[in-house]
Parts: sequence; structure tokens; C-alpha cells
Amino acid sequence: MRFARLRLNGFKSFVDPTDLVIADGLTGVVGPNGCGKSNLLEALRWVMGENRPTAMRGGGMEDVIFAGAATRSARNFAEVTLGMDNSERLAPAAFNGEESLDIIRRVTRDVGSAYKVNGKDVRARDVQMLFADASTGAHSPALVRQGQISELINAKPQKRRRVLEEAAGISGLYQRRHEAELKLKGAETNLTRVDDVLEQLA
Ligand code: ATP
Repeated sequence: MRFARLRLNGFKSFVDPTDLVIADGLTGVVGPNGCGKSNLLEALRWVMGENRPTAMRGGGMEDVIFAGAATRSARNFAEVTLGMDNSERLAPAAFNGEESLDIIRRVTRDVGSAYKVNGKDVRARDVQMLFADASTGAHSPALVRQGQISELINAKPQKRRRVLEEAAGISGLYQRRHEAELKLKGAETNLTRVDDVLEQLA
């Protein structure tokens, strides 16, 4: 899968719909201080399922919505669309029938976040797993924000290991293992209950 397009609408300083084409190879974003370069990277993380307000330089999740300026009133929602090229058919099985994938995340004031993939409603988890399996995602070490290098140098070994695991594309497996363990626990509880009922009947 390859990032192909990014569309921002009401996201942070991008009040009007803004389309970016992400071409093959290295992409650089240049511009004066405060023009929104970091906001672009945050939009990319956000549409892939980032849920930590601190990672978005905000206090709450609705802080990504355009908050208004001297000549423009605040918006009621923020929406980011990430267009993925899947012509090499490398997306996880659930999405792999499609030539391209449009992932949309929208947050509306007092309503919360909703996600769609190619027009169909999906859960945050589905989007997070889609990118975790593709060895990228909101926490991908490929997205380097300011100050992150020194943070990594000073990080504890466990945190550095998580970065390596993310790069190796196995973080999705950890999530699945956790979910499988929860299911197993549920099944064991049910089994104990069945044993109790059988004992009472005997
Ligand atoms: P620098 O080069 O200084 O790091 P930058 O190009 O990365 O700057 P950003 O930090 O992405 O710029 O953008 C900051 C701008 O985004 C500020 O002008 C800030 O007011 C604006 N901004 C951030 N959140 C919102 C919001 N919710 N609504 C409106 N504007 C916002």
C-alpha cells in the first residue's frame, strides 16, 4: 500500500478543503514558521487512528477542529481523507479486494469520531489494524515529529523495543494476541459455568 492523496477539511489551520498529492519517493514539506507543516503530519497520524490528544498537541480530541480566526468563524467538524494505492494488493485481507482505499475520519463537536473505508462505516480498531498490519500507522517510526529523536535517545529500552516492533510490523499481532486472550478467558468462564450446571443436574 502506498499513500497517494491527503485531503483536509476543517482540520486545525486547514479550514478550507485542501488536497495534497503524495507522489512516489521522498516528500518534503516546506514553508514559513506556523504555516501548518506539523498540522499536516498530525492529520496523517489522526486519520490512521491516533487517539492521544497529546500526540496532536491538543488538550482534547475536538481541538483538531478549526477553532476560528479573526475573519473566519470556527467549524463544527474536521475531516481528513487518506487515499491509499493498493494496486500491489498488499492491504490486509478484509480490504484487499480494492484497487485503492479511501480512509475517512471525521470528528464532529459533541458527537465524536467516525471512520469510513471506501464509503463503509468501520470501527477505529479496523483502521488501526489496517495500518498496523501494513507496518505503518499513527505510531509509525516513519513519521518523525520535532523533538522525537532526542526522546528516543533518552528512552527506556522497553520503549525503544516498541519502536522496533512497530517498524517490523508485528504490533498488530500483539493486539490480536491480547484480543484472543480475552476471548479465551471468556470461554473458560463459560466452561466453568457449564460444569456447575452439569453438577447441579447430576
Ligand atoms: P513551525 O515551522 O514553527 O514548527 P509549522 O509550519 O509546523 O510551524 P504548525 O505548527 O503545523 O506550523 O501550525 C501552527 C498553526 O496552526 C498556528 O498558526 C495555529 O494557530 C494553527 N492551529 C492549530 N490548531 C488550530 C485549530 N484548531 N484551529 C485553527 N488554527 C489552528
